[in-house]
Amino acid sequence: MSQPSEGTTPAYIDTSKASIARVYDYALGGKDNYAVDRETIERVRKIAPEVNELAVDNRAFLIRAARFLSTQTSITQFLDCGSGLPTAENTHQVVQRLQPESRVVYVDNDPTVIAHGRALLEENEFTRFTAADIRRPDEVLDDPVVQDFLDLDRPVALFQIGTIHHFDDSDRPQEVMQRYVERLPVGSVFAVAHFFDPENEDSDLARRMEQIFVHSPMGSGRFRTRSEIEGLFPGLEMINPGIVPCYQWWPDGPQLRTEDPVQRCIVAGIGIKR
Ligand code: SAM
Repeated sequence: MSQPSEGTTPAYIDTSKASIARVYDYALGGKDNYAVDRETIERVRKIAPEVNELAVDNRAFLIRAARFLSTQTSITQFLDCGSGLPTAENTHQVVQRLQPESRVVYVDNDPTVIAHGRALLEENEFTRFTAADIRRPDEVLDDPVVQDFLDLDRPVALFQIGTIHHFDDSDRPQEVMQRYVERLPVGSVFAVAHFFDPENEDSDLARRMEQIFVHSPMGSGRFRTRSEIEGLFPGLEMINPGIVPCYQWWPDGPQLRTEDPVQRCIVAGIGIKR
């Protein structure tokens, strides 16, 4: 995608408000973002110089999780909630490299993602994009694209990677996940990455980042506690190593460098419905 230019922005994209997808794109080093998006990250950078690591570790977890599920399970259906803007190594590219007929449905409700996602993510006959609000599980699962393209009587891998920390508590994130789990069959897996308040000496950093994100032009970014995040896997059996910082979830090799404090403030896990 080319760099957005305010002069050529479609009218339905409000460039005075930050978008979660474009803020994330900026944090990942992408070019599909505006000044208002960059401002959010730059505000956080003042107290957390390594803020980009939140996005980088989240994305690296997504890629490792997709690879793991394609090699270690027989799941070939993926529902990627909150796809984000297309980047390198999108879910379908990772899983279809290993299982070429894996089906992937991406869901997002950001106007920028909707504008570009369908064109860029629907790369082949096994990949679809649909616009829906992922806080509404029944609407997502009853969406005609999801219904036509995935067989919801067979196990599905549902991704909520870097998404639920953008839900308010009033959205009842645990109930949202409970409903996804209820609706999907035994054998389905649920991968979640979420901003984390470790409730230790890193708590102050987590809470300060939260305050900046929530009061920034993006307006969201909750750092939840372990018990709050455990509640996002209702009744599921956690796959080893459970809920850990993203960078510790089956890393690609031994860790040679010391982690930055922000890396202890985002966790991930995968649960399976037995
Ligand atoms: N999952 C991708 C990843 O981990 O690389 C993208 C993460 S990005 C931080 C979060 C994405 O979730 C954004 O594209 C945003 O538009 C989307 N999102 C947030 N809330 C949403 C909602 N209620 N409905 C649909 N999409 C949502």
